Amino acid sequence: MRILVVEDERKTASFVRKALQAEGFATDVCHNGDEALAAASVTPFDAIVLDIMLPGRDGLSVLKLLRARKKMTPVLLLSARGEVNERVEGLNAGADDYLPKPFELSELVARVRALTRRGSENKSTVLSVADLTLDTVTHQAGRGGKKIDLTAREYRLLEFLMRSAGRLCGRMMILEKVWDYDFDPGTNLVDVYVRRLREKIDADFEAKLLHTVRGSGYVLKEQT
Ligand code: CA
Repeated sequence: MRILVVEDERKTASFVRKALQAEGFATDVCHNGDEALAAASVTPFDAIVLDIMLPGRDGLSVLKLLRARKKMTPVLLLSARGEVNERVEGLNAGADDYLPKPFELSELVARVRALTRRGSENKSTVLSVADLTLDTVTHQAGRGGKKIDLTAREYRLLEFLMRSAGRLCGRMMILEKVWDYDFDPGTNLVDVYVRRLREKIDADFEAKLLHTVRGSGYVLKEQT
């Protein structure tokens, strides 16, 4: 776990770094907004502790630029002023949490820990191919903002196809992974389920994702 701390007050920055390091986080420190943007664009941090009041580019501006660049690293904002407006602006700009100064180091560490946990959950639970998404915790699928309900078996089939996206999945392989069959039952089970899945994920959309490879099987991929 690697954390970026952005704070111009060197004493505070040093306390925070030591507290995070003591908890096992690798911790980098930047003292202004431009440095922070440069660091965040080259290093994949697991969370950023971002002070709002910084010389030059302030924390809110750093946050907005990160989000505009699709950097979704969890951000904990710090502010000496603790004003409601600032907090709201920060949360609207995409901050994940907010801590007014002065704070207890133990509280900051606890919040950073919560953010990194949330971040790693996000990374591993949602599969996506083009605009099709599948949450492997809730089993909810969606496409283009529309929810798609799946039966348990349809879910397993879609999960397998999405994890294998771009690769040919033969019927036998699908029977093994989705039905736990190690023999060919001699039915068109797979084809029937693929058809049902297509009805749900492709029928209402112009760009088809689930393709038949004649005589071989299926592949889920974005058309190019
Ligand atoms: Ca400051």
